[in-house]
Parts: sequence; C-alpha cells; structure tokens
Amino acid sequence: MRRAIRESVFSREGSDLADEYIIHFDNVTKKYKNTSHPAVDRLTVGIKPGEFITILGGSGSGKTTVLKMVNRIIEPTSGTIYFKGRDIMTLEPDKLRREIGYVIQQGGLFPHMTVEDNIALLPDCLKQDRKKTRERVRELLRLVRLDPDVYKDRYPRQLSGGQQQRVSIARALIADPDVLLMDEPFGAIDAVIRAELQEELREIHKQFRKTILFVTHDVQEAMYLGTRVLVMREGVMQQFDTPANVLMNKNNRYVAEIVGNRGEIQRMLMLKAKDLAKPYSPGDHGPQLDIEADMERVFELFMRDTSAECIVLTNKSEPVMTIWRSDLLSAGKSHD
Ligand code: ADP
Ligand code: MG
Repeated sequence: MRRAIRESVFSREGSDLADEYIIHFDNVTKKYKNTSHPAVDRLTVGIKPGEFITILGGSGSGKTTVLKMVNRIIEPTSGTIYFKGRDIMTLEPDKLRREIGYVIQQGGLFPHMTVEDNIALLPDCLKQDRKKTRERVRELLRLVRLDPDVYKDRYPRQLSGGQQQRVSIARALIADPDVLLMDEPFGAIDAVIRAELQEELREIHKQFRKTILFVTHDVQEAMYLGTRVLVMREGVMQQFDTPANVLMNKNNRYVAEIVGNRGEIQRMLMLKAKDLAKPYSPGDHGPQLDIEADMERVFELFMRDTSAECIVLTNKSEPVMTIWRSDLLSAGKSHD
C-alpha cells in the first residue's frame, strides 16, 4: 500500500523506545462519573504488531471503552496506555488518530457527502495533494471490492449496509494506519454479507499486516477472526488467549458460560476433521492433517497457517479431503 499520505507521529528517536508491543495497557482503569463500578478495571494487556485481537463480552462489559481509550476518545482514570512504546497521553490526539483507523457499527459516514469525499475526509482536511488522494480513494475502493466508477459518487443512503461498512473500512485505511479499531463493525449486517466482509478483513489483515482490535459479542466471529481473543466481563478481563485455548481451556465459569453454552460451539468441538471436509480436488494445497484429527487440531492448524484450506490424509498418507477455512464458521450449526 502506498505510503505517500502517511505522516508518522514517530520521529526516529521515538521508534527506538518502542518495545515489542504496539499497544500496551498497563493497569488501566476507567471509571465514568456518577457510576458505582469502573467500566474497565485494572486492565493489563500487551498487543504485538500484526495481531488480530477480538474483544468478546456481553453488553456493558467495557469493550467499547477499551477501544476508545486507544485513540483517546476516552481517557483512562488511571494507568497508562503505550502506543509503540510511548505513553499516549504525551502524543497529540490528532496525530495519534492518524496512525489508528477507526470503524464503528453503523459506519459513521457523513450522509451529505459522497463515498469519495467520505473516504478522502482526512487528507482533504490536511490539504494534501488532491489528485494523489483521489487516486488513493480508487485504490481503496477496489481493495474493499467496490468498483470506483460505480460507487465513488454515490451517497451513503444509496448503499446497502454491507457496502457502507466497506466504505468505512476504506476510510479507516486512508492514512495507511498501523492499527485498526473496529467496534462491532459487522453487527448490523446479515449473515451472508457478514461472512464476505469477514473474509475480506482477514485478507486485508494478512496482506498489510495491520494490528486489529475488533469488538464483537458474537462468539463465532471472535473465534474465527481473532489470533487472540480478549474476553471481558463487567470491566474485568477474564481470559486473553488463542481461540483454541479459549474454547478448550475456559479460564472460569463466566468464559464457559459465554463461550461454552452455545450449542453450535459444543457441536463443533465434537466434530472430527472428516466431518467438515469436502472432496479433495487436485490443486488444493495447504497444511496436512490426519483423517481422525479432532477439531482442536483443525483450529490449531488454521491458527498457525494462513492457508485457506488444509488437506486431510488417509492413514496411507493419500490426500482424500479438503477442509476450507470458511467452513469452520458454519461448522456445528444444526441443520434442523
Ligand atoms: P460495551 O461496549 O461492552 O457494551 P461500554 O464500554 O460501552 O461496554 O460500557 C461499559 C460500562 O460503562 C457500561 O456499564 C456503561 O453503561 C458504562 N458507560 C459507558 N459509557 C459511559 C458514559 N459516557 N458515562 C457513564 N457510563 C458509561
Ligand atoms: Mg460497545
């Protein structure tokens, strides 16, 4: 992706200070005025560059507060948040936000502005080269699979919900930020389009190595997208681990409740590799798996490898079936 528009907040000497975390919450608490309990309670968590963190929890568990503290829409009551090793309170909020794309549930597009102007908002405000910006808007529209010639002059109301979310993702990417914050971005999108958007987001994550913090209350979405899942309840972090570990070794009763009581997850875990496999066709390629492997192995494999598919072998080591990553999502759904 082009770097022309990018203007880093980080001088050379600043980057020397960066530790291994791109975002680091150190004992962070947020208590809103006139409330009895903190919305986020002593959160300590380090996020490495390139991770895709899903934040999972019920309504009111503090997910949005966690996200909004990263770009200083909300400021912590106590504790410190580091971005690339620097306390965000020492950074200028506007510059910080240029490094951090932000996508909310209803897209947050301006209704009176065209798609193109919505996406170009930030560089236009900064009076950056208009021609370059327009070219970049086209590039981004293609990236989110909207034909620029068809969509750039439309207004948000002339788009479906899914298309509006594509535009907000494009807008969040305009300054080529290292981090994307996404607050239930697909929450209002129907299942089919949602699955498409999930695939596209995975692709963007993989291709551009963005660090993503993605809030959802959908267990499957959290497990499917996240390299690690942060489970929240009443402002307190309950578990922060890979999806496989959250599913297999639930840290406490609450995690079990939110993750384990779901029939489809239970059913999914009882499946074997062969239950989700499709017939193998020559040309399918990817990591290999034994036909008797359980779901834990399947998860592990997809976690370690970015391949879209994996190959199931017979006990004579011949490829017989293929498991597609995209089928993991629907695995365990009952058909009755
Ligand atoms: P989630 O995104 O998980 O639903 P939030 O972070 O929005 O949770 O909210 C966490 C808690 O903080 C909730 O109890 C909510 O009512 C409270 N809260 C959120 N925003 C405010 C605010 N501006 N003023 C007071 N309380 C708030
Ligand atoms: Mg929220």
